[in-house]
Amino acid sequence: MTWYYAENNAQAGPVSDEQLRGLVAAGRLDGTTLVWKAGMDNWTPLAQALPDIAPAAAPGARIEPVVSKSTEAVKRPFGQLMPETALCSMCGQFKPVDDLVMIAGQRVCAQCKPLELQKLQQGDAAPQLNYGGFWIRFAATFMDGIVMMPVILLSYFFVLPKLVVAAQGTESLGTQLLLQLGYFLFQAAYKIFFTGRYGATPGKMIAGLKIVREDGSPIGYGLAALRFLAEIVSALIFYIGYIMIAFDVQKRALHDRLCNTRVVRK
Ligand SMILES: [Zn+2]
Repeated sequence: MTWYYAENNAQAGPVSDEQLRGLVAAGRLDGTTLVWKAGMDNWTPLAQALPDIAPAAAPGARIEPVVSKSTEAVKRPFGQLMPETALCSMCGQFKPVDDLVMIAGQRVCAQCKPLELQKLQQGDAAPQLNYGGFWIRFAATFMDGIVMMPVILLSYFFVLPKLVVAAQGTESLGTQLLLQLGYFLFQAAYKIFFTGRYGATPGKMIAGLKIVREDGSPIGYGLAALRFLAEIVSALIFYIGYIMIAFDVQKRALHDRLCNTRVVRK
């Protein structure tokens, strides 16, 4: 059930039964607080609408005046439902939905927005994500190497001799390049497929790691492909792009920064 309640002469909510209980327990509401939910004719004192939760917070004496009022006086003191309100994740206040903006997957009100943006820039937003550090990711990459090893070996044992024969030993450089290209395409397919579909390569799965967007949502094939390309950049600059993981609060590699992704522990 979703409740609306009156606070400081304004309508707040919607809140669940659970949240309403919490507000009573916290002393923010008492038995005289007017509440309303869809299906009710009038705004009603909490003690009347939900006798099982209100008495604990409300001295019985304070309930009486509202009950004796005429229904007209109590009826919809705040008019029809005002614009939907929602909780600001920063200050914990109810604000009209129109005044709230989504930042990093969180609803934030106009007052708190500058603070939240500052937090983001300092890199300590979304602390609920448990980021995977340098060594566990190194281990995952190593395990991906082991997983891909059979394919590499197979290509050397079966593909390479055939290519060499075809080239009659005169174009071994071209053959080598062809093999490199094949290996590159295989790696691309391997990484883009697994990270796009499952958020993790087999090596990362074994290590209990997952690649997600900043807000924790899946990356999908498009971003997986982009991240594969960005990873090449990380490798080309003497692997400094990877070493950056160790020095970032959110454990971002260069390719994570470029794609706005995070690697988290499951
Ligand atoms: Zn706020």
